[in-house]
Amino acid sequence: MVHSEPVEDFREFGITAFTTTRAAGSFNTLTTEPVGIVMERWHSLRSELLTLAPRFATARQVHGDAIALHTGEWSGWLRATAADGHFAPSRGTAMAVTVADCVPVFLAHASGATALLHAGWRGAVAELLVRGIEVFRSYGFAAEDLWTHLGPAICGKCYEVSPDVFGLLTGKNTAVPARVDLRGVLASQASRSGVRRISSSPLCTRCNNDRFFSHRAGDEGRQLGVMVAA
Ligand SMILES: [Zn+2]
Repeated sequence: MVHSEPVEDFREFGITAFTTTRAAGSFNTLTTEPVGIVMERWHSLRSELLTLAPRFATARQVHGDAIALHTGEWSGWLRATAADGHFAPSRGTAMAVTVADCVPVFLAHASGATALLHAGWRGAVAELLVRGIEVFRSYGFAAEDLWTHLGPAICGKCYEVSPDVFGLLTGKNTAVPARVDLRGVLASQASRSGVRRISSSPLCTRCNNDRFFSHRAGDEGRQLGVMVAA
């Protein structure tokens, strides 16, 4: 896709992954922007992905820990009822999550098994990423054979949370609001789960607000994390 920040880590396995940028426009249907314009962007993306895979999976995101499993040989565009993650054990399923400060988490195996997660602080506390790695394991893919990439998201300098949330994320106490590096927390979770190859985008949605939508910066717009093993 033209207006996107690519993930190079799994390209050699025939896995395309990227995060769209502000220049690609917002993919949020729940704003004052006409839905027809937003849906046109979705349909355009869908057309582009259709050249790589017959299936396209998205979901209504609820900051939970559910991961939709895409195992069949269906074709078309699936919108799961409520899920913050997608897993496909074999090639042919494109997937997308909407983000704007939350972390798009890309997981890949050289065989073409993929997972894409949407992890904010609730997802981090719920250990959505740990669950994702467990799903790979349940399909016979060991954690040490996975690649993990944490895409553009709010950085540790920009993300201040309440003492309660800070405690949940770090296990440490603070009396006042404190800053936390969400991708650092997620990288630790992946590492503890046995993943050795972990990379993180240097880009922050708020520091780089000219390139990305940021909820904290006041944007209603949302970009997409997109992944497909062709
Ligand atoms: Zn920042």
